[in-house]
Amino acid sequence: MPVNPWSDTIVALSTPPGVGALAVVRLSGPEAVGITQALFSKKNLAAQPGHTLHYGTLRDPSNDALLDEVVVALYRAPRSYTREDVVEISGHGSDFVVQQLLGALLRQGARLAEAGEFTKRAFLNGALDLAQAEAVADLIAADSALSHQVALNQLRGGFSDELRGLRAQLVKFAALLELELDFGEEDVEFADRTGLARLLAEVQGVVLGLLRSFELGNVIKNGITTVIAGRPNAGKSTLLNALLREERAIVSAIPGTTRDFIEDEVSLDGLRFRFVDTAGLRDNPADEVEAIGVQRTRQRIGQAALLLYLFDLTELTPAEVQADIAELTSSLPTLPVLAVGNKMDLSTAAQLAAFEELSEISIKLNFIAASQRLGLDALQESLLAQVRGAGLAGTGTATIVTNVRHARALETAAEYLAAVRQGLDVGRGTELLAADLRHALNSLGEITGEISSDDLLTSIFTQFCIGK
Ligand code: GDP
Ligand code: ZN
Repeated sequence: MPVNPWSDTIVALSTPPGVGALAVVRLSGPEAVGITQALFSKKNLAAQPGHTLHYGTLRDPSNDALLDEVVVALYRAPRSYTREDVVEISGHGSDFVVQQLLGALLRQGARLAEAGEFTKRAFLNGALDLAQAEAVADLIAADSALSHQVALNQLRGGFSDELRGLRAQLVKFAALLELELDFGEEDVEFADRTGLARLLAEVQGVVLGLLRSFELGNVIKNGITTVIAGRPNAGKSTLLNALLREERAIVSAIPGTTRDFIEDEVSLDGLRFRFVDTAGLRDNPADEVEAIGVQRTRQRIGQAALLLYLFDLTELTPAEVQADIAELTSSLPTLPVLAVGNKMDLSTAAQLAAFEELSEISIKLNFIAASQRLGLDALQESLLAQVRGAGLAGTGTATIVTNVRHARALETAAEYLAAVRQGLDVGRGTELLAADLRHALNSLGEITGEISSDDLLTSIFTQFCIGK
């Protein structure tokens, strides 16, 4: 594969700014080795092979000031991330030293890289396809084991390969249809309509499957939204704090204090949960602000993947608990619910026994004492069991679409594929079939980057941070 000969060499700090044990400054481009050499006198780097490490000191040639003691890693084109010559300088993690080093490299002719420019070069030089390049961004952002796995899978090629193969077959049919058009008036059919219909059905199946996976992908990427609802003073804020292990929600003994949503994420066993603390639910809200809060709580429950209904064991009867849950989920029959009885430290044996019965009948029940951090491990187990039971947790090995851009392109592709199939069914003219097929191919090509406009590339790569 030809390597694109970029005229300039880019440089950026590739590790996060600030104080750290190490800072890595990366260069990519035809002068990467030459520019580094100007600062590095110990060895002739130009004579060294790729994939080698070189220890030494760097000096600023403009004033001979000692910059840092470093390890220089050399990668030779095309065996590098960008497929250009790449040098990674690992030095000490101080902003001052890094700024001095960058300054010296810039004076030797390097240019400061734009956001995502290393990965953009990797894409333009054919090292990655677009879906893979985006996976790099996801991988950096991934903060649960599962989202990490999904991004990694996509980086390795993921569904791009599958789509590319099917698209290539469709391209053949499209070409035949275009050929028919070239013959104009003469009524010829080069493209076998039955074969086309079969292939369309297959591609459509894959596209729809990928679209369905987007829902699951979204859960993995954005977390399982778990709404904590219950009457005022049940201990919702205390529980949220305990789950988050920090004082984020306002805990107070005055009923109705949590007026807005407080939410945060916790990774449990590789799954990301987004917990939402809500205003207390009750029939006669004390004031207007709280009434709005209760209304919004109901809205949030509507968007939740899981409802955690919390109640005070010493205050409510099993019948009241059942009634509350029934009311909260009246329009959401499939919403998984976990009922959690709080303040077990204050409750009597008789109260607990009454609820034990309830749990045997219908409702999945946990007992905790949020303020004492009692029963929280069992609660986390129950949450995980609920999520797995509801099929919200993927195995991580399946192909999963996590990217909104991909989902949009798949949706458009699905629409046009359906249009071509329908066109075949009703015997629509070649011109219309070819046009719809072209649209479908464009949408599929946008995912892997076989078709990409400058705007699209810019919008994707500027989402990266500098140095990637
Ligand atoms: P919310 O209105 O549902 O958010 O309830 P809060 O979290 O603000 O708690 C209300 C009161 O109950 C506070 O005084 C908490 O300290 C107290 N509380 C919460 N959990 C427990 C618990 O497990 N045991 C006891 N004894 N008190 C608790
Ligand atoms: Zn609260």
